[in-house]
Amino acid sequence: MPDFHPNIWYPFTILKEAPTPVKIESGDGLWLELEDGRRIMDCISSWWVNIHGHAHPKMAKAIADQAKKLEQVIFANFTHDPAEKLAEQVTEQLPGTLNRVFFSDDGSTAVEVAMKMAYQYWRNKGEERKKFICFEGAYHGDTFGAMSAGERSVFTEVFEDLLFDVEFLPYPDTWMGDDTVAEREDKIIRQLEEMLDENLETYAGIMIEPLIQGAGGMRMCREDFLQKLHWVNRQFDTLLIFDEVMTGFGRTGDWFACRRAQVEPDLIAVAKGLTGGFLPLSLTIASDAIFEAFNSSDPIKTFWHGHSYTANPIGCAAGLASMELMHENEPVFSEMEQWHREELDKFRDHPKLKKHRVTGTIAAMEIDNEDADGYLNPAANRIKKKCVDKGLLIRPLGNVVYLMPPYCTTRDQLSTMYNGILELHEE
Ligand SMILES: *Cc1c(COP(=O)(O)O)cnc(C)c1O
Repeated sequence: MPDFHPNIWYPFTILKEAPTPVKIESGDGLWLELEDGRRIMDCISSWWVNIHGHAHPKMAKAIADQAKKLEQVIFANFTHDPAEKLAEQVTEQLPGTLNRVFFSDDGSTAVEVAMKMAYQYWRNKGEERKKFICFEGAYHGDTFGAMSAGERSVFTEVFEDLLFDVEFLPYPDTWMGDDTVAEREDKIIRQLEEMLDENLETYAGIMIEPLIQGAGGMRMCREDFLQKLHWVNRQFDTLLIFDEVMTGFGRTGDWFACRRAQVEPDLIAVAKGLTGGFLPLSLTIASDAIFEAFNSSDPIKTFWHGHSYTANPIGCAAGLASMELMHENEPVFSEMEQWHREELDKFRDHPKLKKHRVTGTIAAMEIDNEDADGYLNPAANRIKKKCVDKGLLIRPLGNVVYLMPPYCTTRDQLSTMYNGILELHEE
């Protein structure tokens, strides 16, 4: 039986099965220090958020300075510099028409906001478009709208009756040596065109995790697919929503997946890397056209949504400091894909680790075992237990082993991570 703290209920944790949580005393760059003094490498940027590593002094200073100046203020009828500057700097890195930033607190909520905006956009224009088109294997968060848009799984099963219907298309995931992907993409695009052709007036929008599905198992698709999706979106006049909660801020080798794919969606949700993992903050960025549909004196056309911590100044100051580090770290996050490719070459003929793939700073492969694929594949628990003893924080998603290191990782440290994975699969 795990020895949990008697006053804490841990997330994503099967209460009678999970190991006792490991206590972390402190962090420093790539490293986390355990209570017993051992150090482990954070190979996954914790929950994919610490893009610059732990306890970065520049981040800490920006947060402390802002806390002494203005820690929080109501964001309706009032505004402040950190929010305005952050909105300017983020939109500067996004395609031309994505100019309106709406603040919230986490990825799930940023997705909820995007879906609410898309839905109300059509209402404001006098149309009733109620359905979303989403992708098999998607994960958009744990609130009700986000759950509805995601793959039905053990995470959502209990709530099935409360979720609204969306239509799912296959996600054309691919890997090194896969020669079937172009054909699969075309089939999905044809299916989408048929749906829109028959029932365009029922669809509010299409939502996708661009280039990489995160929690669904680091499934990667090609830029070509996003371009085809964008083209269909333009032909039919529907809305394209990119959930860049995980792919944003350098993860795909460029600032955003939409930039790498040269695609201009109508709405984008970002969160995880936004504050470098220091404070909870998220953004939904809308195109000028979306914003204009709400720009009215009619209360019914108003977007009635907000949170008590909306655009918290300390969170925004962390976001600004992280943006500065993003510029400093640009050479690393754009180069890391090449490092991953060199390392993955060591696994070319590995008998157990298959379907190698990489996009930007993220690389993944699958353990070929007898058990069913998916989050509850037992391989994950076996590896989680062993890797702390090897000095690594790796947390497989079912049978998918992946690395998502912070941008302070050196070439040699990345090599150490891969050697650790090799050793874990020799025993
Ligand atoms: C993590 C994640 C979310 C949810 O974000 P939270 O901050 O955990 O609520 C949504 N979408 C994607 C793609 C994610 O990876």
